[in-house]
Amino acid sequence: MEEVRVRFAPSPTGYLHIGGARTALFNWLFAKKHNGKLVLRIEDTDTERLKEDSVSQILTSLKWLGLNWDEGPEVGGEVGPYYQSERREIYSKVAEQLLEEGKAYYCFCTSEILEAEREKQRAAKQPFRYARTCRDLPVEEAKARAAKGEPYSVRIKIPTEGNLTVHDLIHGDVTFDLTQFDDFVIVKTNGMPTYNFAVVVDDHLMRISHVLRAEEHLSNTPKQVLLYEACGFAVPKFGHMPMILAPDRSKLSKRHGATSVEEFREQGYLPEAIVNYLTLLGWAPGNEEEIFSLQDTVTQFELEKMSKKAAVYDTKKLTWM
Ligand code: GLU
Repeated sequence: MEEVRVRFAPSPTGYLHIGGARTALFNWLFAKKHNGKLVLRIEDTDTERLKEDSVSQILTSLKWLGLNWDEGPEVGGEVGPYYQSERREIYSKVAEQLLEEGKAYYCFCTSEILEAEREKQRAAKQPFRYARTCRDLPVEEAKARAAKGEPYSVRIKIPTEGNLTVHDLIHGDVTFDLTQFDDFVIVKTNGMPTYNFAVVVDDHLMRISHVLRAEEHLSNTPKQVLLYEACGFAVPKFGHMPMILAPDRSKLSKRHGATSVEEFREQGYLPEAIVNYLTLLGWAPGNEEEIFSLQDTVTQFELEKMSKKAAVYDTKKLTWM
């Protein structure tokens, strides 16, 4: 097997919640099981969603759970996480390359133009698709407009028809209809990369072999595969973990009890109890055991044993240990 390299890539938008903690734990277990490496990366390019202090809260929670990471730039003698906000130049270079190769294009459509398009399509009861107005602008003209300072975003050219099948380690083959996707933005007008673009560039440069994350990102995966192909990067393996729902199958929220690691910590739970509980959210070891040591879990852990169905979050099952 190739070297296993996984990553946990939280967006610092609040405390480390149960779903994020499970993602971190399963990546950690997978790395340990295969003598691999876990990379920690903070996805902080969407400045509007950032919450102050959440990076330190997330790091505190990970450390408390004992989920140490292996790689990142060194800060003050400690292995720090990577921060996407510090890597803007890296993304810009890749975007420039895609523009040069004609795989991406400058888009000068203003938010007013896009809003008018959206309105027209809404009235016709059609889902919004960018009209690809700038896709065929002559390159020299586009470059000249950009050089003069006209604001632009960068969009990727995607095939206008066909299907794309993604193989997922948990869900099997999942096929997407490409007409459902737009020529999506990869660099915003403010120069910031979008989530899909930054993730692909980083997962490639950080040599990630397995992208293991929450199911909510499964629908982003075809976009990312298209980006890998456009950039000429090898596509990693993907595994999307099932959602975590409340006992009544509704979306998990505050009314279902503690939902962040920090709350458990404040309530006096032992980290081992939380780790044990998280382990059982969507994964069954294949026997009746409910409490095990971390070492046993590492030995027994197999991603393929993860259920495709949503996991049910019921804190009554949580022991104090
Ligand atoms: N930053 C994303 C999140 O917190 C995760 C992205 C990924 O794992 O690809 O949901």
